[in-house]
Amino acid sequence: MKSCPSYGFLLVLLTLAASAQVSAAQVSPEVKDTADRLAGSVYTGPSMTTLRELSDGFGGRLSGSPAYNRAAEWAAARFRSYGIQNVRLEPFTMPSGWQRGTAHGEMLAPTARPLHVESLGWAPSTPAGGVKGEVILIDDVSADSIKSKADKLKGKIVILDTEKIFAEGWVKVLAAVMAAPRNLKDVGAVAMIFPDSAKNNVINATSLDWGGSMSALPGAELGMEDSALIRRLMDEGSVSIQFELSNKTSGQMQVNDVVAEIRGRELPDEWILIGAHLDSWDFGTGAEDNGTGSASVLEVARAVAALGKAPRRSIRFALWGGEEEGLLGSYAYVQAHLNEIGKCVAVLNTDNGSGHPKGWKVEGRKDLKEAMQPISDSLLKDIGGGGLSMEVTYDTDHGPFMLQGVPALDLWVDMKPYVELHHKSSDTYDKVDPVDFKAGSAIVVATAWVIAEDPKPIAGHIDHAAVAEIIKKDGLDQLLKEVGQWKP
Ligand SMILES: [Zn+2]
Repeated sequence: MKSCPSYGFLLVLLTLAASAQVSAAQVSPEVKDTADRLAGSVYTGPSMTTLRELSDGFGGRLSGSPAYNRAAEWAAARFRSYGIQNVRLEPFTMPSGWQRGTAHGEMLAPTARPLHVESLGWAPSTPAGGVKGEVILIDDVSADSIKSKADKLKGKIVILDTEKIFAEGWVKVLAAVMAAPRNLKDVGAVAMIFPDSAKNNVINATSLDWGGSMSALPGAELGMEDSALIRRLMDEGSVSIQFELSNKTSGQMQVNDVVAEIRGRELPDEWILIGAHLDSWDFGTGAEDNGTGSASVLEVARAVAALGKAPRRSIRFALWGGEEEGLLGSYAYVQAHLNEIGKCVAVLNTDNGSGHPKGWKVEGRKDLKEAMQPISDSLLKDIGGGGLSMEVTYDTDHGPFMLQGVPALDLWVDMKPYVELHHKSSDTYDKVDPVDFKAGSAIVVATAWVIAEDPKPIAGHIDHAAVAEIIKKDGLDQLLKEVGQWKP
């Protein structure tokens, strides 16, 4: 989702302090020595080669696609090649399979010209020959508003005024946007258009659904300049367009998460989890989003396995599917492991690309920030990664763990390079800066080792009410309730 889905649009800034007990992790010289060695190992290790094999070798990895399935098998084999015995594919169910086919569009009147269109993710194909019609603009996607305009919308191609619709942010309006295709279909609209916001008519892959269900109505993304032209021409009179989408769809399907574990030597039932999503959108090759996160998880696993010394508590490594459709793989994993989630000491997630690392987001928990401070000061500060951000996000796979009160860390990096290219055809291997990428992996492995070694958990689990406090700002709790991932 920002990642995501990647749901970068679910960024919520909070400064709430959670009230769990603080237990600052002290870093002993012996633990620091091992963490230093692990950090060095990932700097000189093969993570760029791993990333290249993943991104160039498999290409875009849409959840459940043949490329995704091959990449999951490859990743499992890669974990085993590091000497890790306990490697599993853990399936979860997505409501629909979807793969992109072809898309063509053109303006018919007042002038004839080609349009830059692509299908929205999880949108159905148009009827053969495409859809054709006059374009109508709407700036309110609420069910009542659509119903009240039924006469005007019938037989039309509906273009969304995204600037107005999303003026107050995605969180508040997402439920209405998700319901819009069904409501538009019910009043007889033939298709919808989602204008993109990137310059040069570049399209960002996205879908309007959370959950990976098929949309009720064919929907196309349209380049920014094309959209702006149509809007200007609509000021003068009627505009007609046509477009044809051909996508491959299937019913319910199983998608595999890839999970590996190095058992702990003293507290094997307690575990930390280092995760990243393996799936990607399909225009590029998912190098930044989230090949870097995936390669980082693999590289950290390699380095820890190569130590020849098991950590005090178990370390799990997870590569998730279904992130871009709503954190589906990580959410399913948490639900399937609720009986042992109380033993999950921390989750470390990476999904922000290879921008220069700044440190960790502690997802609104003051107690976790205080507990992390000694690790940041003694291990991360000197490489410029000692920052601890209180920002709360539900845009990637730490989210489902955070909802269970698990201490959750999301790698905090400079997002500029990532935001420019994720979900676009430019998200390719050549964009990844090896030094910043490896610095991020070094932060992950050093932090993970200290947390796995500390005799005491880094921080406690917080209860449901404390989680509710953290996520209630800006209606994030309401949204998560609507998509079925939070029960108040
Ligand atoms: Zn991502």
